[in-house]
Amino acid sequence: MFAIASNLQAILQRIEAATAAARRPAGSVALIAVSKTFPAAAIEAAHAAGQRAFGENYVQEALAKMAELEARRALTSGADRPLEWHMIGPIQSNKTRAIAEHFDWVHSVDRLAIAERLARHRPAHLAPLNLCLQVNISGEATKSGVAPEQLPALARAVSLLPGVRLRGLMGIPEPAPEPTRERSAFAALRVLRDVLREAQIGVDELSMGMSADLEPAILEGATMVRVGTALFGVRHAV
Ligand SMILES: *Cc1c(COP(=O)(O)O)cnc(C)c1O
Repeated sequence: MFAIASNLQAILQRIEAATAAARRPAGSVALIAVSKTFPAAAIEAAHAAGQRAFGENYVQEALAKMAELEARRALTSGADRPLEWHMIGPIQSNKTRAIAEHFDWVHSVDRLAIAERLARHRPAHLAPLNLCLQVNISGEATKSGVAPEQLPALARAVSLLPGVRLRGLMGIPEPAPEPTRERSAFAALRVLRDVLREAQIGVDELSMGMSADLEPAILEGATMVRVGTALFGVRHAV
């Protein structure tokens, strides 16, 4: 678990260096630690090293870890620094209730029906669920995400729902051999965000960049980077 603390410091330094290179204010990029496939003990180690926000892709796996951490945290001083949970994986409609009850953010909303279900299932005693719309920025047939042409209508409809708060956009560019192609996909997401803002749809966050490409993402305006491998190590198939 020593590696997690030193990996975390290395990632925070990468983020800081890229933020400075982009001439953006220090602290303007948040790290989401992507803990899918890793056990609750790994999350606990990252939390002990100062990390608060965690991203998970699979609902059942996430709920099991949340319950385990809750039980352990009752015994430790970690209880006064709560974890923040981000759902970043594809969403099945039969999982929206569990997501709305247990997560703080959802990055992977790509259709209105899912946003409506999340809004309906968000418990009234919790703050509105923070949503990002996942956009298909590389135009691949297989990847999830709303098509850029359909984004404005979706964003407007989601922004009117109670129980949820539209916060930003998320994108995963197609891996490209030339880094410039990936960087232009990040730039495209930023432009889409700015177009929505001009249309008075308040979206501030850009969730883009992972272990291998957080620097170009930050140069193009990422406000949240989602990092797994560089923090926890190589994932094994589940
Ligand atoms: C797994 C995953 C990540 C983390 O990827 P790494 O390359 O391990 O940093 C980020 N975003 C999403 C949506 C993921 O599924």
